[in-house]
Amino acid sequence: MRLFTYERAKTPAEAARAVAGQPGAKFLAGGTNLIDLMKLEIETPTHLVDVQDLKLDRIEQTGEGGLKIGALVSNTALASDARVRRDYGVLARAIVAGASGQLRNKATTAGNLLQRTRCPYFYDTNMPCNKRKPGSGCAAIAGYSRQLAVIGASDQCIATHPGDMAVALRVLDATVETVNAAGEPRAIPIADFHRLPGATPHIDTNLAPGELITAVTLPRPLGGRHVYEKVRDRASYAFALVSVAAVIQWDGTGRVAFGGVAHKPWRIEAAEAAMPQGAAAVTTSLFADAKPTHDNAFKVPLATRTLAAVIAEGNAA
Ligand SMILES: Cc1cc2nc3c(=O)[nH]c(=O)nc-3n(C[C@H](O)[C@H](O)[C@H](O)COP(=O)(O)OP(=O)(O)OC[C@H]3O[C@@H](n4cnc5c(N)ncnc54)[C@H](O)[C@@H]3O)c2cc1C
Ligand code: SF4
Repeated sequence: MRLFTYERAKTPAEAARAVAGQPGAKFLAGGTNLIDLMKLEIETPTHLVDVQDLKLDRIEQTGEGGLKIGALVSNTALASDARVRRDYGVLARAIVAGASGQLRNKATTAGNLLQRTRCPYFYDTNMPCNKRKPGSGCAAIAGYSRQLAVIGASDQCIATHPGDMAVALRVLDATVETVNAAGEPRAIPIADFHRLPGATPHIDTNLAPGELITAVTLPRPLGGRHVYEKVRDRASYAFALVSVAAVIQWDGTGRVAFGGVAHKPWRIEAAEAAMPQGAAAVTTSLFADAKPTHDNAFKVPLATRTLAAVIAEGNAA
């Protein structure tokens, strides 16, 4: 058994100070990912700072006409909020495509963004994994890689970001609001929040040590038709092989981001100019630099076909 200490912070700055000031400390939100990883000794924090008393569980209108989602808003509360369902349907749909009802009741907005990869070798402590143990190697590259990345990977790691919510937030151009140990706020565009693996695959995001997420802000509603399509091995309770979040306007223009294909939600704004020409035109430029493995080459045509279905669904709506 690994010993760890536990405290409940009272303010965001206090929580950030507590984690920044103690190497090995971590925030604890709903615990649906972190506690699982602790049981398997993949994450071994020495101190947990529980953030559930921080009063970050509200969804508020912003002065700019958007929404500010507290870091502790549960996935269930967010997906069922009337404003989210009406104005940000892609987000509500992405959330309910993930996990299960029970998990979504506990899972928080911040915790969802920071969930770790589902690469099978990350979970197997007998195997080398640069993300779990930097410098140990990557068992997936010569191993079984069906679920893993086709683009943006490195020779150190080919894992994907497994979540659904972040893909919708990427298409909506959300902003992640944080506070550091000195109490200073920071706003990180979602495009810059998750990292590609490069030579440091153990670092998933651009958060500084001890930096606490306080909220996620959505800009004004985009209008248009919102679609989230997730292709997976089972109809529920499974992570995406490929997912597509899209907002399609009445003239055929739109925005699109893919999940299940890279270490971060995959969106290249320039590729969206081809939306009116159809799915193949968009994915040809989005996946021009793809380097799939023998096991996951199917993901590239699957991405094209899934986007084609999404465009058809958007046009039919
Ligand atoms: C069986 C199963 C199936 C699942 N299926 C899906 C799926 O299909 N799609 C999907 O998207 N997700 C899925 N999930 C993942 C689930 O969505 C996440 O476990 C959940 O969103 C994590 O939120 P949490 O609040 O429980 O985070 P926690 O487990 O509490 O924390 C996760 C990480 O976030 C950090 N953290 C938490 N709050 C903050 C904060 N405010 N600031 C900074 N750091 C913070 C923690 O330190 C930790 O590192 C599944 C999970 C399980 C167990
Ligand atoms: S792909 Fe990444 S997470 Fe998977 S074994 Fe390799 S280094 Fe680890």
